[in-house]
Amino acid sequence: MIELIERASQFLPRTAVVDQGKRFSYRDLLDRSEQIAHTLLGNKSDLQSQRVAFIIPPSFDYLAIQWGIWRAGGIAVPLCTSYPFPSLQYVIEDTQASFLIVSPEFEDLLSPYRDSQSLAYLSTNDLENNSSSSLPDVNPDRGAMILYTSGTTSLPKGVLSTHSTITAQIKSLVEAWHWSENDHILSILPLHHVHGIINVNSCALWSGATVQFLPNFDAARVFEIFCEGEVNVFMAVPTIYFKLIAYYETLPESKQDEIRNALKKFRFMVSGSAALPVSVMEKWKSISGHTLLERYGMTEIGMAISNPYEGERRPGHIGQPLPGVSIRLCDENGQEVPVGQAGEIQVKGENVFSEYWEKPEATAKAFTADGWFKTGDIALVEDGYFRILGRDSVDIIKSGGYKISALEIEEKIRTHEAVKDCGVVGIPDEEWGEKVVAAIVPNQEIEIQALKTWLKTELPSYKIPKEFLFLEELPRNALGKVTKNELKKLF
Ligand code: ATP
Ligand code: MG
Repeated sequence: MIELIERASQFLPRTAVVDQGKRFSYRDLLDRSEQIAHTLLGNKSDLQSQRVAFIIPPSFDYLAIQWGIWRAGGIAVPLCTSYPFPSLQYVIEDTQASFLIVSPEFEDLLSPYRDSQSLAYLSTNDLENNSSSSLPDVNPDRGAMILYTSGTTSLPKGVLSTHSTITAQIKSLVEAWHWSENDHILSILPLHHVHGIINVNSCALWSGATVQFLPNFDAARVFEIFCEGEVNVFMAVPTIYFKLIAYYETLPESKQDEIRNALKKFRFMVSGSAALPVSVMEKWKSISGHTLLERYGMTEIGMAISNPYEGERRPGHIGQPLPGVSIRLCDENGQEVPVGQAGEIQVKGENVFSEYWEKPEATAKAFTADGWFKTGDIALVEDGYFRILGRDSVDIIKSGGYKISALEIEEKIRTHEAVKDCGVVGIPDEEWGEKVVAAIVPNQEIEIQALKTWLKTELPSYKIPKEFLFLEELPRNALGKVTKNELKKLF
């Protein structure tokens, strides 16, 4: 039984999706996904454990196909709509997909698969089967989805989750963030990651709420839709808030007033996937009146730690463990660290994935002997709130015997008025082991020496970058995360 889909029958006449001005009910979503399930089963009578890759822009069709794959018993593999062919090929071949479903705008790009012997190629225009045989009973412990990690630190890894995993991830967020059928969320995130798939779409559909799509991010359109007055929940990554703020600041006062009024009626707004700069949080608050709710999660575990829905949302912190999620912080020897000390975040709970797809060694390495998932993220607890210091591999800089958090230095440098953004990394150095260096995106002219002099009043000397580089933009991946290995190469 797939609980998310089962639940939809409680909400049949309600609006599930708004897509390009068209409204689709929960009944429409159930009918269309059933039809798609039959088409798939018409091609291959048993889909249990078969991978079905699909490339569809965020839309009603996307959801119907995802649900259709699940109802047929298959494993959904959503492809990134902005990837070039080789990256798509990597995922299709790594998962050994037996189906590839392609919407018209991607038919040219994926034409090499049209006559493939190894998989069935289907255009979304061909999903019109009307057979009415019964659909299989899908065991919740079966594989449901393979999502690839963002590839921020290395080649993306396929993360296999079951239906129970997905259900646990959804339930935890619905409870923590008080989702209800009165909610209406604007879905702007790419739909090959948990953020868009679970936090936005699945939590809304679990609750009988409405998902409105805007497939290509456009700050002007986002604000227009906000002003239409239906949307009351929004979730995005920090770079999106950054872009919204920059656009808002170019608007005339009358338009700004209209936006501010529209935002007042929102229930809550979330940021995640990368550290939220305190400056962005503060600016957004002054525009919208909302304190962004920052949370922490990963492809492998869904969401794990979140600032409270009610109660203080603390800048620069990610909050407390979500319902049903156990968290501990451990040192290199696997010993839990005392409160106040930094350690690796380890996670246990129904929300944790099953395995890295066909990578038994990577899977084994990712878990402790007693079954905790090792995130590779370093954090500490301050006043009952978790604070991320960064990824062990790229953000924790080991220099001159110190362990330095790149995130902390970035946060400090960003408070300088001439700095729009910055990224800090460690690069190999004979004397220091690693030395701290910083890439700066300036918003006005600034001398390196002036920046250094100022930093001396703000940070202990061992944390002050030894080298600076000015960039127009930081290198980022599709989800807007700074790719620190790329950044290192620039030094
Ligand atoms: P890869 O595993 O391929 O290197 P990735 O880790 O970026 O890519 P995701 O699973 O999309 O892939 O991202 C999870 C990571 O994002 C976390 O491990 C953490 O480092 C970072 N992250 C998520 N939320 C936050 C947050 N609120 N603050 C800081 N970092 C965050
Ligand atoms: Mg990762």
